[in-house]
Amino acid sequence: MAIDTESAGAGGAEVQVLRNVIGGEPVDSLGEPEAVVNPATGEQIALARNSTPQDVETAVKAARKAFSTWSRTTPAQRSEALLALAEIVERHAEEIARIEAIDAGKPIEAVRSDEIPVIADNLRFFAGAARCLEGRAAGEYMEGHTSFVRREAVGVIAQVTPWNYPLMMAIWKIAPALAAGNTVVLKPAETTPFSTVRFAEWAGEVLPPGVLNVITGRGEPAGQALVEHPDVDMVSLTGSVETGKRIARTAADTLKRVHLELGGKAPVIVFADVDLGSALSTIAGTAYYNAGQDCTAATRVLAADRVYDEVVAGLAEQAAGLVVGDTLSPQTTLGPLNSLRQRERVEGFLERRPSGAEIVTGGREPDLPGSFLEPTVVAGLAQEDEMIQREIFGPVITVQRFSDEQMAIEWANATRYGLASSVWTRDVGRALRVSAALRFGCVWINDHIPLVSEMPHGGFKESGYGKDLSVYSLEDYTIIKHVMASLQ
Ligand code: NAD
Repeated sequence: MAIDTESAGAGGAEVQVLRNVIGGEPVDSLGEPEAVVNPATGEQIALARNSTPQDVETAVKAARKAFSTWSRTTPAQRSEALLALAEIVERHAEEIARIEAIDAGKPIEAVRSDEIPVIADNLRFFAGAARCLEGRAAGEYMEGHTSFVRREAVGVIAQVTPWNYPLMMAIWKIAPALAAGNTVVLKPAETTPFSTVRFAEWAGEVLPPGVLNVITGRGEPAGQALVEHPDVDMVSLTGSVETGKRIARTAADTLKRVHLELGGKAPVIVFADVDLGSALSTIAGTAYYNAGQDCTAATRVLAADRVYDEVVAGLAEQAAGLVVGDTLSPQTTLGPLNSLRQRERVEGFLERRPSGAEIVTGGREPDLPGSFLEPTVVAGLAQEDEMIQREIFGPVITVQRFSDEQMAIEWANATRYGLASSVWTRDVGRALRVSAALRFGCVWINDHIPLVSEMPHGGFKESGYGKDLSVYSLEDYTIIKHVMASLQ
């Protein structure tokens, strides 16, 4: 890998130092270096600096300078650049897969077969969409005057991403923002900066300097300084509800636009008339995918009275089929949690479980280095219990028993989140009734988790506002201007 190295760490061992990418160049941050750790082994794989407000200043300046020319490129020129970025991703697919496996703890095969194709497709979708943006009206709405609507780029966008899908979440933000003519300063999560820094380095082959800038570092000071910066026009975060609220409050001081993709607690409503075998295989597969660290993970199962016992037993059986361990092995299907801190957080939920709750399977640390946790099923929880109400973000499925459709809908809706949900039934009328009643940004019927570039992804309620993916996301990164000309 072409990352610069320097002598650091115990015994003067050579470690890679991830540098900020600002104005198209690798730039040393002024902040202290911090270890980037492989969560599957506990080993340090790189160092990344904790960027400072001064680094933020340099990056925002570079983005502002680039905005004056990038915002005036034609849609076709931006489209060409995004198509070239998709090719770059495919060319470096194997390197990206290895980076995500050792930095984010992902089973390498999942990155190869799921994430890389989605990332490339997303870049290509926005390359096409860039050329189709339009204002809605043009005409004479007042005698002697012609009006039209321009959709313009918002300006410099600060983007802040989480650690669960480091490069994929970055691309979901970068692609629509650049397609609309904005420039970007992006801060990846402190535990997983590797793939985003590499992507920004490669992007220098096709993007003019300053169009995409990446700075490493923590929420504070780097993220906070970005959100506060008066020359940033909009902030887009994928992260937790708490961070979202904090960013919205900070952004209010300068009345920046805010785009928030926050946490979720997806209900999975299983009626008794489904083919349980295939339903449970999909539900467990999507609940344990990425070790449950997915904002849409199918981890809150509500099962109809008649099939409750079978659902609990079936999910436990599915858990037993997972291959846990080495993230670089193509056989592995369950990786570690992203950090020891995250595992402690998940274990805290299990330790605090109420007396009526039963850990049906899992709940322990396997005999492996790093931050693994066994796939877990918990039954016997009540609607108000913490494990039902809060996002666990780990390989833990809860199962509740419901007696009728109304109860299922009420419980499904009764958390603060509203990102994704699914309903499992062969009864078409019921599927449509329930999907209309669910207060979530996405409802799947007889499936869970598939997403496509053409369709919007985003929350209701405290899961945030603004959409990723689709033309709605592109619109979120534009601002409407009315131009009115006198015909005199
Ligand atoms: P987090 O909120 O802890 O951190 C997210 C990012 O925000 C990180 O880069 C962090 O450094 C930064 N940050 C923290 N404080 C900040 C501040 N004051 N100002 C600016 N930036 C700040 O979230 P996480 O633990 O990294 O990610 C997991 C969360 O992300 C989960 O809640 C998950 O549901 C959510 N998520 C949502 C979606 C979605 O599409 N809705 C997708 C993936 C993850």
